Amino acid sequence: MRYHNITKDDMLNGDGLRVVLWLAGCDHCCKDCHNPLTWDPEGGLLFDRAAKEELFAALDKSYISGLTLSGGDPLHPANRLGARRLAQEVKETFPQKTVWLYTGYLWEEIWQLPIMQYVDVCVDGEFQRDKKDNKLLWKGSKNQRVIAVSATLSGENPRIPLLHCTDYGESDEEAVSPLGGHRIWDSRALADRGRSACEG
Ligand code: SF4
Repeated sequence: MRYHNITKDDMLNGDGLRVVLWLAGCDHCCKDCHNPLTWDPEGGLLFDRAAKEELFAALDKSYISGLTLSGGDPLHPANRLGARRLAQEVKETFPQKTVWLYTGYLWEEIWQLPIMQYVDVCVDGEFQRDKKDNKLLWKGSKNQRVIAVSATLSGENPRIPLLHCTDYGESDEEAVSPLGGHRIWDSRALADRGRSACEG
C-alpha cells in the first residue's frame, strides 16, 4: 500500500479534528478530481513501519477524533487488504476514536467488504461535477452519501444505507437522499462543516 500524505489536524474530512491518510491509487477518473496525482497506485511513498508509527503517534493525541482514509481510493484493489488491516488495528488500539472512509465506489458494491466492520462512516460515490455543491456537508456532489456504517450493517437491509447526516447538516428526517437512503441524525455533524476529499 502506498500513500501521498498524512495530515494531522484536518477539519474538512469528518467530524472533529482528524488524521487523514491520503492513499495512492484510484480508477474512477472523475472529471474535475482535485487529486489526479493520487490515481497511480505506484505513486507516492510506501506505507512502511515509519509511516505507520507517524500515523499512530498522531492518532494518540487526545484532541484527535479519529482516522480518515482518503486518496485516491482506499478501496482501490491495491489498497483493500492494507486499508482493512490498518482500520482494524486503529480500532483495536483506539476503540473510542472513529474511522471514516472516502471511496468512489457505491455502497451497494462495497457493503460486504471486511473493512466495513472497522469503519464508522463511509462517504461513497464518484464526484459528479454537475452535482457539485460547495455547501454540502462532508462531500462534494449531491450523489454522494455520508453513511452510518454500523447502523446500516445492523439494520433490516444492509444494502440500504442509513445516513450519518443530511446534505447540509439539517435534521430533516423527511428529506430524501438522491439514491434513496434513509436518514439518521448525529448532532456531532453540526459542529464541523466541511467538504470531502472527493469534491473535485
Ligand atoms: S474524485 Fe475521488 S474517486 Fe474521483 S477520481 Fe478523484 S480521488 Fe478518485
